[in-house]
Amino acid sequence: MVKSLAALSFLALMCFMISFRKSIEMVQRPGLHTIIVDAGHGPKHPGAHGLISKEKDVTLDIAMKLGEAIQKEMPDVKVLYTRTTDEEQNDETAGTANRYRADFANKSKADLFLSIHCNATPQPAGGWYAKRVIGHKKVLRFVGRGKRRKKKLVNEPIYESYWVKNMRRGTETYIWAADRSGSKSDFIGQRGQEDSEGSEFASDSAASGENEENDLSSPEAKIRAQLYEQRFFKKSALLASFVEDEFKKSGRLSDGVKQRTWKGIWVLQATGMPSILVETGYLTNKEEEEYLNSDSGQDEVAQDIVNALRRYKQQIEGGKSNISAAPDSTK
Ligand SMILES: [Zn+2]
Repeated sequence: MVKSLAALSFLALMCFMISFRKSIEMVQRPGLHTIIVDAGHGPKHPGAHGLISKEKDVTLDIAMKLGEAIQKEMPDVKVLYTRTTDEEQNDETAGTANRYRADFANKSKADLFLSIHCNATPQPAGGWYAKRVIGHKKVLRFVGRGKRRKKKLVNEPIYESYWVKNMRRGTETYIWAADRSGSKSDFIGQRGQEDSEGSEFASDSAASGENEENDLSSPEAKIRAQLYEQRFFKKSALLASFVEDEFKKSGRLSDGVKQRTWKGIWVLQATGMPSILVETGYLTNKEEEEYLNSDSGQDEVAQDIVNALRRYKQQIEGGKSNISAAPDSTK
């Protein structure tokens, strides 16, 4: 009896999920219409330091160039910036700054959140001096105490100090790890609640005939949020792989696509949309810092990301079947 009841409720759940998935695919406004371009950090939380620059300034330069390049190549796409100057208002703490960015993205009902950052190693920018032993010499030293004190020849190492260059370089793009945490689902659920009309969220719950969209703790709401999360995860992963691929084409060293679940990437966790965080290179590497500060370098980074966005837009708008395919875990 218990067994058949469990089987029945499982079946009901499956039916719900299948019909819900269909309703997403039917009503979701497909494509890339609004992009949030986020220049990482700000005046109070400048981020990484290089030899000649701070992360907050480099990210702002690249973000502005990226926005311009998007407008030029995709005039039908709306670009919104989380900041366009170095005078950020909402940066009392790094937490409030990121919360503001995520709220801004969610309220704008954007289709994509794209955050620009620069990397750094814990070691000093450029490099550091280290010591190594290059031989030994005999030296006369006093050893022992009091009456036993006497001179003795001892072996002492000869040190040489040498420069260690900070070699770490390359790009990496982060996405939020969808299947390891429910935190992003929570925000997706909240966003669904805030949206009143016109968005894919509101029209979605209306189309699936649900009245309980205010009850975020209902099992249906949770499943809904998880389904969105899986959809966003696929899209984020797709775009991230395109970005790293374009960097490679430009001859950059790519560390590939990485997933994060911890709190450091609050903005990825808190945005109810596909989101990526691009680490455009290491400010602690002298050459890479010079590249990221040069006009030509910034243009190239912006162009690489625009190329990736174009491929992404084509795929989600043209070859939609690849994206809307449900993740295996819902089967
Ligand atoms: Zn950063």
